[in-house]
Amino acid sequence: MDQKNLVPKPKSRFLKIVCLNCGSSQIVFGCSSTEVKCQTCQKILVQPTGGKSRILTKISDVLT
Ligand SMILES: [Zn+2]
Repeated sequence: MDQKNLVPKPKSRFLKIVCLNCGSSQIVFGCSSTEVKCQTCQKILVQPTGGKSRILTKISDVLT
């Protein structure tokens, strides 16, 4: 039996997040493996947690 050629779904999405500290928004990669800080106030907005990223702030939009 042939295996189905499953196209891996791109998990990666771009998220628009809003810093709860200063209110500035920025676009980040949804499964970023690096820490993302607010460009304005340097608050940590996204933390890498073993493959997935943990969003520590408000997501205002998901861009697919
Ligand atoms: Zn900020």
